[in-house]
Amino acid sequence: MSFPNLVEQLGRECFSCVRGRLLSNQPLAPVTWLRVGGPAQLLFQPADEADLAAFMKVLPNDIPVLPVGLGSNLLIRDDGIEGVVIRLTGKGFGQLEPVGETRLRVGAAVPDKRLAQAALQAKLSGFSFYAAIPGAVGGALRMNAGAHGTETCERVVELTAIDRSGQVLRLSRADMNYAYRHSEQPADLIFTSAVFQGVPGKAEVIAEEMDVVVAHRERAQPIREKTGGSTFKNPPDNSAWKVIDAAGCRGLTVGGAQMSEMHCNFMINTGEASALDLEMLGETVRAKVVENSGIRLEWEIKRLGVFRPGETIEPFLGRA
Ligand SMILES: Cc1cc2nc3c(=O)[nH]c(=O)nc-3n(C[C@H](O)[C@H](O)[C@H](O)COP(=O)(O)OP(=O)(O)OC[C@H]3O[C@@H](n4cnc5c(N)ncnc54)[C@H](O)[C@@H]3O)c2cc1C
Repeated sequence: MSFPNLVEQLGRECFSCVRGRLLSNQPLAPVTWLRVGGPAQLLFQPADEADLAAFMKVLPNDIPVLPVGLGSNLLIRDDGIEGVVIRLTGKGFGQLEPVGETRLRVGAAVPDKRLAQAALQAKLSGFSFYAAIPGAVGGALRMNAGAHGTETCERVVELTAIDRSGQVLRLSRADMNYAYRHSEQPADLIFTSAVFQGVPGKAEVIAEEMDVVVAHRERAQPIREKTGGSTFKNPPDNSAWKVIDAAGCRGLTVGGAQMSEMHCNFMINTGEASALDLEMLGETVRAKVVENSGIRLEWEIKRLGVFRPGETIEPFLGRA
């Protein structure tokens, strides 16, 4: 299906001040790791922070807004996303500069891996875990991305964001109320950059840490598949993969969706999966895990957008 053209609906003159790209009914599947889902009613790629603020000021308040990064944690539903999807690109949001001796100011579109490399060059330790995370900084700030015992909230000092009315906000780490893979700012707040704190270290030690992180990822994760990383958060004092395995869900399939044989908390699109296949698979796993161990897994992957008419995951929610 395609959505009504929002630019035509609101009138082209509404956006005359905007310098970035506005694309109606733009497919989102190609820009997510799982490669499924429908279009964005309107995709906006702002030229820079001032352009983004100007856009938010003229956009009527009742139009929903959703920022996305590199789509490594997203399951976009088959009929796509109503309203405006905002995707920051390296052109306007790719800055990476030192602040004093131990801090880095980083644009939200900078890939996490580049941040890890920049920290190595600046001989700052504490960033090696980013070498394992295939997202960008904006997604890491939202998700409190972490690996190998370190999380984003341990490194971030200050964030800059643009709110729904186009105001530029400065936030502290405390304002984010970070928890495991969780932060508490509104879903339509757009992070544009952040300052990160490192610890002076030796380049060869940092490089070695990064090698360990990358080698572990190669060995343990299906990173060449269409996947969204960990499907579920780890339950308290347990591992999601262990309870999924114990419930017999390693390799489980629904249509073209499968729980990876290699890492059974990663779901993969084996080729022709729909978003519905993937979501039904996830809900089937949740039901089997509850039945087997009483544990209710919480989705880590963000499921966003609208179902096709008549589609529902209800029967799967009730199963087992
Ligand atoms: C192979 C693989 C391995 C992974 N390994 C890990 C891992 O070890 N640790 C880990 O934590 N995660 C991991 N992930 C998940 C994912 O990479 C992280 O959650 C990452 O931080 C998401 O960043 P992104 O840019 O892809 O964001 P997206 O997936 O595009 O979006 C994720 C969320 O962030 C929000 N968001 C994105 N950009 C912005 C912005 N500028 N402002 C405000 N909100 C924004 C979106 O609205 C959405 O809610 C893995 C994923 C894959 C595919």
